[in-house]
Amino acid sequence: MKVTEAEIVISAVSKKQYPETHMPEIALAGRSNVGKSSFINKMINRKNLVRTSQKPGKTQTLNFYKINDRFHFVDVPGYGYAKVSKKERNAWGKMLEEYFTERENLKAVVLLVDIRHEPTKDDVTMYDFLKHYELPVVVVATKLDKIPKGKRVQHIKRAADKLQLEQEDIILPFSSETGEGKEEAWGVLKQFL
Ligand code: GDP
Repeated sequence: MKVTEAEIVISAVSKKQYPETHMPEIALAGRSNVGKSSFINKMINRKNLVRTSQKPGKTQTLNFYKINDRFHFVDVPGYGYAKVSKKERNAWGKMLEEYFTERENLKAVVLLVDIRHEPTKDDVTMYDFLKHYELPVVVVATKLDKIPKGKRVQHIKRAADKLQLEQEDIILPFSSETGEGKEEAWGVLKQFL
């Protein structure tokens, strides 16, 4: 997809702040530092529309980015920070549950995992949560440039096995550094728009 327009619409903390629109949405989830911001920026050809690495302690928001006046990317705050307090974690959980279970615009969720490592317990929990709500999941395995070419197939298989991917779910290798996987990712995401 050729992206000609991309802008942040709102950073929402509750559903009354979600944009009032019928445009489809694709959400992006993953643990902090997995490369979520870099993925969005690469997909939309912007260096820094999405600021990288939201640190804990900052307000955790759902960030809606309008793309080509056609759909929204919804950036979901990252998980897996040990330092986050129980109160913060509960607020985060409630916000996500509300969004994932009630938002009709939501068509699919991109779950990002780091191709170098086996998916974490949190990654598996997130995948199971999304499947529980019957959401289509596209797994994007980031940081592809950091492993040797000969290990790609093995690492992808390991991630798919660990998550116990369902037949209809897709896993795609991706590098924000080289752009590899970008066309394939658009090819998959377009089907949900
Ligand atoms: P976020 O916390 O999930 O939004 O992660 P960021 O997008 O901020 O990325 C975390 C770090 O990983 C940054 O230093 C990025 O430059 C780096 N990074 C993200 N994606 C890639 C990638 O595909 N390849 C490489 N080599 N580094 C990446």
